[in-house]
Amino acid sequence: MLQPNRYWQTSTIASSLSQADLLNQLIDEAEAIVIGIGAGMSAATGFTYIGKRFTDAFPDFIEKYGLLDMLQASLFEFEDRQEYWAFQSRFCLLNFFDQPVGQAYVDLRQMMSNKNYHIITTNADNAFYAAEYDMDKVFRIQGEYGLWQCSEHCHQQTYQNEALLREMVEKQSNMKVPEDLVPYCPKCGAALEVNKRTEEKGMVEDGHFHEQKDRYEQFLKENKDKKVLFLEIGVGHTTPQHIKHPFQQMTEKNEKALFVTMNQKEYFIPRNIRPRTVRIDEDIEEVLHRASSK
Ligand SMILES: [Zn+2]
Repeated sequence: MLQPNRYWQTSTIASSLSQADLLNQLIDEAEAIVIGIGAGMSAATGFTYIGKRFTDAFPDFIEKYGLLDMLQASLFEFEDRQEYWAFQSRFCLLNFFDQPVGQAYVDLRQMMSNKNYHIITTNADNAFYAAEYDMDKVFRIQGEYGLWQCSEHCHQQTYQNEALLREMVEKQSNMKVPEDLVPYCPKCGAALEVNKRTEEKGMVEDGHFHEQKDRYEQFLKENKDKKVLFLEIGVGHTTPQHIKHPFQQMTEKNEKALFVTMNQKEYFIPRNIRPRTVRIDEDIEEVLHRASSK
């Protein structure tokens, strides 16, 4: 993978460094860092969508539908709106409003203090808020579990009502919330749903979303000819169009850029950027913790 090159001093000694030291050196040497964060980062720091965290929260849904994974379950076609909200209200408290701080997010934030960086994430959980990031530097391209949208996408506005979600969790029984708690679109009367992107319909993108998108694009533009580190952390292959592919394409276009992929799984790397690719395959939380403690 990473070959010695004239732009990055670190590239000449890379093979002698531990993965945490290598990451630190590259971050120190970079003029700009674009960080892409996927589900693997949240999973590495304890916010898993499978196992005990799922089975403890949704034993009834698992028994009824044989669901295997909380993220898949959140996209399931439930019987009706009352059942949909019985699931989503619990899901949104667990993965957003009541989500605790993740150590890997704290470590990464500390590593970025005083750095020129920007983040794009496909995660819709609350990990960045919980770890007190500067949210002007985070672009949440796949929405947020804390927001709602019109299921017909009749207008580009999102809504939030944490108190109502808590009431749904409290008052649900037999996997249904009371009918009068089901929220509807104030404009067209269609059902509201959790703010998320689907292949068929896309996603409601309001002013808040476009501000985030503009800031991210501005950062890419301002730094496009610099020594940029494209650092993807826990990015799989579910939606490669948001992080993985653009990062690889931008690396290819800028000969000074490096592509760093932190993932225990190995994914295909286009041949043109292989000499400028660094793969960090040790545990994400451990590497970030060691790197941030130096
Ligand atoms: Zn509507």
